[in-house]
Amino acid sequence: MVRVRFAPSPTGYLHVGSLRTFLFNWLFARHYKGKMLLRIEDTDQKRYVSGAVESLIKTLQDFGLDWDEGPYLDKKEQIKEMGKVGPYFQTQRLDIYKNFAQKLIDEGNAYYCFCTEQELDKMREKQTAKKLPPMYDERCRRLNKEEVALRLRSGQPYVIRLKIPEQGIVKIKDLIRNDIEFNYRDVDDAVIIKSDGFPTYHLANVIDDHLMNITHVLRAEEWISSVPKHVFIYQSFGWDLPRFGHVPLLLNPDRSKLSKRQGDVAAEDYLAKGYLPEAFLNFLALLGWNPGDNREIFSLKELIKEFSIEKVQKAGAIFNLEKLDWMNGCYIRKKNTEELTRLCLPYLINADFIRQDGSQIFIKSSGIKIDIKWLSKIIKLEQERLKVLNDIPEKTKFFFIKELNYDPQILIWKKSDVATTKSNLELIKNNLNKLSSNNFKAQNVQNILNCLGKDRGVGDIFWPFRVALTGEKSSPPPAEIAEVLGFSEAIRRIDLALDKLNLMS
Ligand code: GLU
Repeated sequence: MVRVRFAPSPTGYLHVGSLRTFLFNWLFARHYKGKMLLRIEDTDQKRYVSGAVESLIKTLQDFGLDWDEGPYLDKKEQIKEMGKVGPYFQTQRLDIYKNFAQKLIDEGNAYYCFCTEQELDKMREKQTAKKLPPMYDERCRRLNKEEVALRLRSGQPYVIRLKIPEQGIVKIKDLIRNDIEFNYRDVDDAVIIKSDGFPTYHLANVIDDHLMNITHVLRAEEWISSVPKHVFIYQSFGWDLPRFGHVPLLLNPDRSKLSKRQGDVAAEDYLAKGYLPEAFLNFLALLGWNPGDNREIFSLKELIKEFSIEKVQKAGAIFNLEKLDWMNGCYIRKKNTEELTRLCLPYLINADFIRQDGSQIFIKSSGIKIDIKWLSKIIKLEQERLKVLNDIPEKTKFFFIKELNYDPQILIWKKSDVATTKSNLELIKNNLNKLSSNNFKAQNVQNILNCLGKDRGVGDIFWPFRVALTGEKSSPPPAEIAEVLGFSEAIRRIDLALDKLNLMS
């Protein structure tokens, strides 16, 4: 049975690259009806951030992802664990690592190293001066047993290092990169237990993957250089190797490594901005994988069915925000308007346009109580053009602001003038007044505008009407906006525009 894991070191936020690694593991597990584990690699005490694990799990859960074993947040947002091979926090498994490290020492596959930071710095300096790659020069590997015993007894601080063979070739068949070869000669005697007694990534990761029966290790490309160290540990214990697959890096459009400096890398920020979880996961799935044809929109179910690790590419994948926006727009358009309205509500509340009191909703500036159906009409007007939910306040603000604050100059169409604009707005107003408030429907308003436009010029009619209603130069069709605003509000806004024009003449 396939068993894969996502093994983050919590840093306070979930990197989009890590989320993509989670996703590939998850798709692989679900495709083969295997198991997905979450394991927290928290042995680096220097990087400890309080609350990081909770926020990491919450982000994964907010994306609608799940797993079969490991920690999760219950309804009260408390961490709980599920699964039989735990604990799934490495800091709760320290004795296990200590015992295995001892075994490596006893069997001659690891050794104590007493070098101080200063000694190591000097060593590195010398190597760099000689243009050699910085590597541990193995001086403690040559200490005899008595010397080691003496130093241990005297309480000298130490680390434990792998005794990597002097030479020999390590070959693996990577699921994505095919044959990869390493020469032990180029591999450092990596530290496996630090001076604080905590294990490093190499030791803890391999032991846990073995004890947790992981069959496939799908992880980021940056871990490739760890392979020979890991293989050495597996072989020292006589354990079978899992299959490895190293997924490609995420790149900025200029092909540099995706980094914090060039934009957002925290997955939770994308949710906050109003990317839909299913759209974002669809986008991530295509970063490094494709179905072999040019289909791009996939539900999670479809992804599970289609995903295959063989189709993951080696080359870095470009994190293209324009494509993400396009994809999010596709998902937004597919939503039914009621659901989209519910999703947009928090953004309008956040922008201070509306206030929610239990199940009642009010416009903040006027205190007027509104119906969710009215809000739906507004959202529907924008649904086609919306890329992220966070854009909704900016795009719809004129519905909620009582006194539109715009430069009256923008009411005037191209080569027109104040007097013509005033007379056109008055004409529009008089004609709209003929419609009773019951008849104040977009189509009727549109007919009036079309009719007047024939006479006075389309731009001269539509332009000032749009600006009067919205204070904006572009918007959805003004007749539709008029219907949503309602008869008296539309007329009030035209009057407001006329007042502004009067002040100009
Ligand atoms: N803890 C490692 C990380 O933070 C895990 C790498 C792996 O999957 O082996 O990415």
